[in-house]
Amino acid sequence: MYGLLGLFYVLPWLTVGGHQAVLFDLPARKFYILGLTFWPQDFIYLATLLISAGLSLFFVTALAGRLWCGYACPQTVWTEAFLLMERWTEGHRQRRMKLDAGPWNTEKILRKGGKHLLWIAFAMWTGFTFVGFFTPIRELVGNVLSLSLGPWETFWGIFYGFATYGNAGFLREQVCKYMCPYARFQSAMFDKDTLIISYDASRGEPRGSRRKGSDIKQLGLGNCISCTLCVQVCPTGIDIREGLQIECIACAACIDVCDQVMDKMDYPRGLIRYTTDHALQGGKTRVLRPRIVIYAGLLLLLIGGTLWSMIHRVPLRADLIRDRNALYRELPGDMIENVYTLKITNMDDVNHLYRLTAGQHGAVELDLSRPLELAANEVAGFTVRIRLPRDSAAGVQKLQLLLVAEDEPAIRKTILARALMPPAEG
Ligand code: SF4
Ligand code: SF4
Repeated sequence: MYGLLGLFYVLPWLTVGGHQAVLFDLPARKFYILGLTFWPQDFIYLATLLISAGLSLFFVTALAGRLWCGYACPQTVWTEAFLLMERWTEGHRQRRMKLDAGPWNTEKILRKGGKHLLWIAFAMWTGFTFVGFFTPIRELVGNVLSLSLGPWETFWGIFYGFATYGNAGFLREQVCKYMCPYARFQSAMFDKDTLIISYDASRGEPRGSRRKGSDIKQLGLGNCISCTLCVQVCPTGIDIREGLQIECIACAACIDVCDQVMDKMDYPRGLIRYTTDHALQGGKTRVLRPRIVIYAGLLLLLIGGTLWSMIHRVPLRADLIRDRNALYRELPGDMIENVYTLKITNMDDVNHLYRLTAGQHGAVELDLSRPLELAANEVAGFTVRIRLPRDSAAGVQKLQLLLVAEDEPAIRKTILARALMPPAEG
């Protein structure tokens, strides 16, 4: 909870490479992520990120069950934070129940009011931070203080804050039980070797209360003392002793509380524990199964390929568009001229001066309207005239041009130009 919420609340305040560490600048259509700038042309990375996230979920679920639900899902993490604030203001479970059942007196008003005040402040801060991922957060502070927030920023800040307050404060596990689609299909990824949280019925049954130190063999009892603490701490309100259920979000709260009970009773820990179906039946758990190997292989391939492509990514884009209004022009000296617009996108964070050459086409002349100089992150268009000798092949000539940054030759792009030529004579 501290790690993930820390990331959420701190990241927008950090600056990496001159930009906010994570900023999705939608109006400018640029994403800044940890020093890298992504353009709409880099959409492929978003696609690979989403596919990797899906595959990771399959892989982790097949290997270790609902780890995502119990430890990393925003619903779980924010609910945990809200529960913490509830404990600060209203105390532990028994005290809360007593407070709920009691009359509305000053203490109850102060405790309940304090809780909601904390929740609302935290939810509004969450909404503000969320908007801070889309609008530079420092600018946003100024806008809030000067009451000049835009309508969309106001709407999303309040909407996200309100959703946090409602989901984490009131709906809680109802979201997991009735709204989350993942809970519906995760069982398809489970097998008998998947890590699950399970009650060891062979050790716990027959359950029943007893005094500490009493001889359970003589009483004919197992290790479960029927204290029902595992049910009381369960955020989804299920009894894990009835077996694995769809509502279980694998938060492990029942493990912790049962281990405490076992410690008090001087029984070995692990009556409720992480285990697998095979292990519970006395068999051996197989970690390396075909589905695990396939998921891991696909994931490695995808992540490796994406990283390789990002490392070798050239921060330059160039499009050459032929002037459609003219076929070609015949010039003195038996030269044929085609006119183009060259659109260059400098996706780098520094200015560049580019050079356009015709590569191996020695007889080709290039005439530029102005030097190809672009500021960081600038998009600009230039007129390019390409002249070829008339004796080049008739019809359409395909030319390979090379665009290179003068100061950094590794930044280069090959551009294909199609030049129209007059038909062959005779
Ligand atoms: S916490 Fe442990 S001992 Fe208590 S009821 Fe649950 S399984 Fe039994
Ligand atoms: S059964 Fe245990 S692990 Fe599952 S949701 Fe309840 S407390 Fe969490």
